[in-house]
Amino acid sequence: MDYAKLLNGKKTFPWKKATNMKIAIIGGGFMGLVLAHKISKTNAKVKVFERETQPGGLSTYHDYEHFIWDRFYHVILPTDADLIHLMEEIGLGDQINWRRSMTGYYVQNKFYSISSLKEFLFFPPLNIIDKLKLGFTIFYGSRIKNWKTLEKITAKDWLIKIGGKKTYEKFWSPLLLAKLGEMHESVSAVFIWSYIKRLFQARSSAAQKEHMGYVSGGYKTVFDRLQELLVQKDAELLLDCSVKKIIPGASGGITVFYNDREEHFDKLIFTAPLNALNILAAPKLVEVTKKQKPIEYLGVICMVMLTEQPLTPYYVLNIADKEIPFTGVIGMSTLVDLEETGGKYITYFPKYATADDTYWQKTDQELEDIFLKGVQKLYPEFNMGTVNSVHINKAMKVQPLQVLNYSEFIPKIQTKNPDFYVLNTSQFVNETLNNNTVTQHIDYFMINFNKDLESI
Ligand SMILES: Cc1cc2nc3c(=O)[nH]c(=O)nc-3n(C[C@H](O)[C@H](O)[C@H](O)COP(=O)(O)OP(=O)(O)OC[C@H]3O[C@@H](n4cnc5c(N)ncnc54)[C@H](O)[C@@H]3O)c2cc1C
Repeated sequence: MDYAKLLNGKKTFPWKKATNMKIAIIGGGFMGLVLAHKISKTNAKVKVFERETQPGGLSTYHDYEHFIWDRFYHVILPTDADLIHLMEEIGLGDQINWRRSMTGYYVQNKFYSISSLKEFLFFPPLNIIDKLKLGFTIFYGSRIKNWKTLEKITAKDWLIKIGGKKTYEKFWSPLLLAKLGEMHESVSAVFIWSYIKRLFQARSSAAQKEHMGYVSGGYKTVFDRLQELLVQKDAELLLDCSVKKIIPGASGGITVFYNDREEHFDKLIFTAPLNALNILAAPKLVEVTKKQKPIEYLGVICMVMLTEQPLTPYYVLNIADKEIPFTGVIGMSTLVDLEETGGKYITYFPKYATADDTYWQKTDQELEDIFLKGVQKLYPEFNMGTVNSVHINKAMKVQPLQVLNYSEFIPKIQTKNPDFYVLNTSQFVNETLNNNTVTQHIDYFMINFNKDLESI
């Protein structure tokens, strides 16, 4: 979706009043809570259902004993205009801290920084011709407007066609592997095109250097603030409350079954992943754009390590080495001030995995042992005696895999039932998974929802 075009100038429209209308939101992740915040401005009575005992979903927080920080790593890019606007709107604009960030590559047992245009152009594993091809791919990719044509070709084939095999093997393949694990060869070119669009915009045009931001206190600050605003509007957030069934009401509206009870709502918006939608929602509520094909999600297994000493100078290190059990290293403390993290350095080691990956069967202790061996292999000089604690965090439904012709398989926002909507990350057809796009997706939804309220 071209959100910029769709949203242009439409954000300050007057909210319709939906006083006395009861609205259910399934899922208390970032999508569900921001949506609840926006809908509560219509004066509707909003109730959010969240399965877990704390809000936030994939953006939630974790107690690392010395401090609380994100369960998975999150940053804000300077180009995340809609997310930054949201933070300002909820009073957290001055809580965003911007820092210079660095990106690294680990190829053939060596670390390379590609954090500035200069370093990028001197990336040693590629010769001058390959670098020109790489530069051309990025330039060409960032100028493509018609992403639909890119849905018909895999990222691998497209990148080789534009930039050649060597550039693919040395540069793109590690990056795709870091982002998608073993499934990296089955995604369409839209995935890498949207990645190029998002990441290469993060370099400030003046200095051509990367900057990234975080909110003081991490995403917990954001969820605490959203919860405060919901309380002010009498909206309810039910935690530890797994919805069991959703059916259309006999004379309109939607009925929700949860905790041995049922409750009727005028409208319901479903924000949880698609597997939950298929289990919970009556079949006639779910409509797919064109052809029904189950959407596969990638999950993430992520070791988080707290240390007394820094481990990496890079915010992101992409790893092109199948001997290493994780696909990247995220040096969160290269951005986040140490006062935020109790004086400890926090580093994330993600491995992206499909549902059939054998890693899901391993115990946390087994995963810890495997990942720690990987850390020792990658950083043989690092004194493991300075490791303070290790945490294993997992999520199975993270990234819907944008395979060929992906946009044909997703559910529509507005279903055949006028009271039932689906609004989730599977509908990001030409964007990467991030909270700026979540915000844009909600703003786009609100324009249409407002029109629906108008017609009541
Ligand atoms: C490793 C990782 C790194 C990331 N890095 C960044 C980053 O740097 N920057 C960025 O902007 N974004 C990042 N993201 C993406 C960001 O986390 C997502 O965009 C965002 O969290 C998606 O929110 P959501 O609410 O759409 O989905 P989810 O977070 O999946 O929320 C869905 C919610 O539905 C709930 N649910 C499911 N079933 C039921 C049920 N039956 N009843 C009630 N509730 C139910 C779930 O418990 C969950 O809370 C990252 C994500 C991951 C995993």
